[in-house]
Amino acid sequence: MSALTTLQDIQPLSIPGVESGSPIVIAGPCSAETEQQTLDTARAVKAIGVKVYRAGVWKPRTMPGSFEGAGDVALAWLQAVKQETGMLVATEVATVEHVRAALDAGIDIMWIGARTSANPFAVQEIADQLQGHDEVTVMVKNPINPDLELWVGALQRIQRAGITRLAAIHRGFSSAGAHIYRNDPQWHIPFELRRLAPGLTILCDPSHIGGKREFVASLSQLALNAGFDGLMIESHCDPDHALSDSAQQVSPEALKSILGNLAVRSGAPIEDELSLLRQQIDDCDHELLAVLARRMSVSREIGRFKKAHNLRVLQPSRYQDVIKARLEEANRLGLADNFTQYIMQAIHEESVRQQLDLFD
Ligand code: PEP
Ligand code: MN
Repeated sequence: MSALTTLQDIQPLSIPGVESGSPIVIAGPCSAETEQQTLDTARAVKAIGVKVYRAGVWKPRTMPGSFEGAGDVALAWLQAVKQETGMLVATEVATVEHVRAALDAGIDIMWIGARTSANPFAVQEIADQLQGHDEVTVMVKNPINPDLELWVGALQRIQRAGITRLAAIHRGFSSAGAHIYRNDPQWHIPFELRRLAPGLTILCDPSHIGGKREFVASLSQLALNAGFDGLMIESHCDPDHALSDSAQQVSPEALKSILGNLAVRSGAPIEDELSLLRQQIDDCDHELLAVLARRMSVSREIGRFKKAHNLRVLQPSRYQDVIKARLEEANRLGLADNFTQYIMQAIHEESVRQQLDLFD
């Protein structure tokens, strides 16, 4: 079996309480900091209908010395969340020890973070540890570098360990240049993943893409418009005092308004509308091709005339006049100059080629 085919067998993830077609929303703090903060945030997001709670127990921080998570003790806080609220609980695992501890604690969803999914050795160790635990759901974040194969490879390693409840999370890519977002989304990469694995559930993490709370709403809507299956959003009961990723976390109240304002794009009516629009595109293309064929036939007619009267095929001044007139006209129609130039050049070249053929 080729490296990219097995993911095609994956079925969409179903989360109890989330209707098919509705976005899966995972929300909760970047890190579980204290029992109080973990439970307070959980109660608040539960109250707005969230079904899956996230909180980092072990935090992979870029710089040493920053808060690295509360560690194993926080697993008990997530157990308490699960017990009290009935939400599924999710945390990041990066090592074999994390997987063991998370399995022992009955964590429902484990995600592999971007720094880990970039490392096939680490992913394989996690996969080996998950072997035989198909009750667990595993989500694989894209690697920090924009490498689709590495992402696919990580998903396959988990799949080959027998995990069938699998999803991908798009959280953007590290990039050196200045960007408004913390991570460069490079949307074409998750779109290509969708093409390779149509049944795979792909969520978007607008918090880590945007890096600032003001971007979360628009990125979430963009993701749903594009066809992502859900969102992982960082939410903290006191975001300004969060110990990690403070700038990008939203309060549960803000989360409520973000989710409440989201337009969900799905279902048959939109597909109908889309197919009507596509029909119009098909019609335009038919017209374009018919007009091009007619233009070439007139061009050959001119070629025959030039040959009969011993005229040269290339008439530069005529070509200049044509280009100038077309650019002006296209400009009035709202078409970009370089696009018009490109198209007209291609058409002119083909006309010349067809006329020269007559001189053979
Ligand atoms: C996180 O989800 O808190 C996290 C560390 O994310 P990422 O791996 O996407 O950086
Ligand atoms: Mn975070």
